[in-house]
Amino acid sequence: MVDKDSRHRFILEKAQVRGVLVRLDETWQEVLSRAEYPPNVQQVLGHAMAAMPLLASMIKFTGKLTLQARGSGPLTLLVVQGNADGGQRGLARWKQEPPLKPLEKIFGDATLTIQIESSEGGDVYQGVVGIEGDLLQDALAGYFENSEQLPTRLWLTCTENKAAGFMLQQLPVEDKERADREDDWQRVNLLADTIEQDELLEKEVEQLLHQVFAEDDIRVFEPESLRFECSCSRARTAGLIAGLGHEEAIDILKKQGQIEITCEFCNSINTFDSIDVEAIFRGDGTQENDETIH
Ligand SMILES: [Zn+2]
Repeated sequence: MVDKDSRHRFILEKAQVRGVLVRLDETWQEVLSRAEYPPNVQQVLGHAMAAMPLLASMIKFTGKLTLQARGSGPLTLLVVQGNADGGQRGLARWKQEPPLKPLEKIFGDATLTIQIESSEGGDVYQGVVGIEGDLLQDALAGYFENSEQLPTRLWLTCTENKAAGFMLQQLPVEDKERADREDDWQRVNLLADTIEQDELLEKEVEQLLHQVFAEDDIRVFEPESLRFECSCSRARTAGLIAGLGHEEAIDILKKQGQIEITCEFCNSINTFDSIDVEAIFRGDGTQENDETIH
């Protein structure tokens, strides 16, 4: 079905509001197939996965977009990373199962960031998202309201095989004083609140939009496809070994005979023997060191 693993952008012409609806199917199942997540960890990770294509549609970037939280709470790490053409990956780590809400009880004392890297290298922008509200959708909406000065709302949901996200944002129009602008915004939000979880996850997208916003002229753009994609590579893994330093790498080789590094996003394994390791420290081949975790 065309609606699977897809992002649909639309504009509500009368209300002057733009929206995005995303669905993750295999993309989400791939993430879940790589770890046994407790239900409440799964929920936060599913919300973050569904948020990624929404964020990517609002932020201009050519390289990588990373949503990451590290903290002292039950959920110690959450990383979701996407690229500009719809590939994304994610993982979470926890020391105990967190509650479903609020965010401060899930993450504890934590930093939640949105990082944007350009594909040409060099430029890295990092924005800090305040850990406020019950759910990730509240914190992210707050971030966009602050950074873009435009009223924004997000709805995120997931099950064990599907995740979906929905976003509405006021269009930046000249005519800010238009009397019914605020009323229109309230009205479309109330309508969006009536969307049931099942509908957001499964109902045919155009049918759903026309049902919910029946009074509006809806302009729907061509859907974009989304997929699970991991950016790990042997060259990047070699970069991690270079980061250990020669002595430490030799030490591991002595103990284990080889160095084996598993990518925690996709579970692929890269193995380096003593010849490979020597080549790394001689500086042979390309090395990149841009993994954010490991
Ligand atoms: Zn990988």
